[in-house]
Amino acid sequence: LAMHESHRSVPSIPAFLICDADFLRRWGLGLALPGGRPFRKLVKAGYLVEGRTLDDLARQLGLDGGVLGETVAAFNRDAREGRDAAFGKGGDAYNRYLGDPTIKDGNPCLGTVETAPFYAVRVYPGDIGTAGGIVTDENARVLDRNGEPIPGLYAAGNDMNSVMGGTYPGPGITLGPALTFGWLAGRHLAGA
Ligand SMILES: Cc1cc2nc3c(=O)[nH]c(=O)nc-3n(C[C@H](O)[C@H](O)[C@H](O)COP(=O)(O)OP(=O)(O)OC[C@H]3O[C@@H](n4cnc5c(N)ncnc54)[C@H](O)[C@@H]3O)c2cc1C
Repeated sequence: LAMHESHRSVPSIPAFLICDADFLRRWGLGLALPGGRPFRKLVKAGYLVEGRTLDDLARQLGLDGGVLGETVAAFNRDAREGRDAAFGKGGDAYNRYLGDPTIKDGNPCLGTVETAPFYAVRVYPGDIGTAGGIVTDENARVLDRNGEPIPGLYAAGNDMNSVMGGTYPGPGITLGPALTFGWLAGRHLAGA
């Protein structure tokens, strides 16, 4: 919601993840898998946008080529110095843990964008979980407004009001309860 509200004054939907050919080969981008695996189908489908130059990429994304060129130049300067002035990527231990483990000196979360062709994917905000879904009991049975189970109706995963009550302690707190409550629902249905 906050992202959509902010989009009204600072348009940022979609945002673009942009990388160069070296990055794509090494790390992949979205559905394009790493390790030099085939990705032509994704370009053909319009999912992965390929530009011979940054200008060409900007044109295809509907961006100002001059601004993209300046942004990438500033980013590359920062990457060489190992700091990210705009967003602080690699600025804490959690960030660095997710970075390139082979980079011991410098910033493992930053690399330059300079080897053509260049690639982009569009990024849209989406839900990974909810804090306002269907209320259930400890057996994943859906409760009515009086707190009574509705016979035969179960919920788990994103449809279910999260047991975390609106907090996000860390990765896994959506899939973990989804599996757990799916399992509990199955056991209850089986009369276990
Ligand atoms: C990028 C990303 C990263 C994530 N990382 C993590 C992570 O590290 N750890 C973690 O715990 N969670 C993570 N999540 C969240 C987790 O993936 C979701 O919470 C979880 O997949 C939700 O499971 P679900 O079964 O409730 O819903 P979904 O997986 O969305 O399943 C719903 C299914 O219903 C189908 N469907 C929809 N409408 C209809 C219809 N009308 N008829 C028939 N079928 C329909 C859909 O096609 C879909 O297959 C991540 C999510 C995203 C997007």
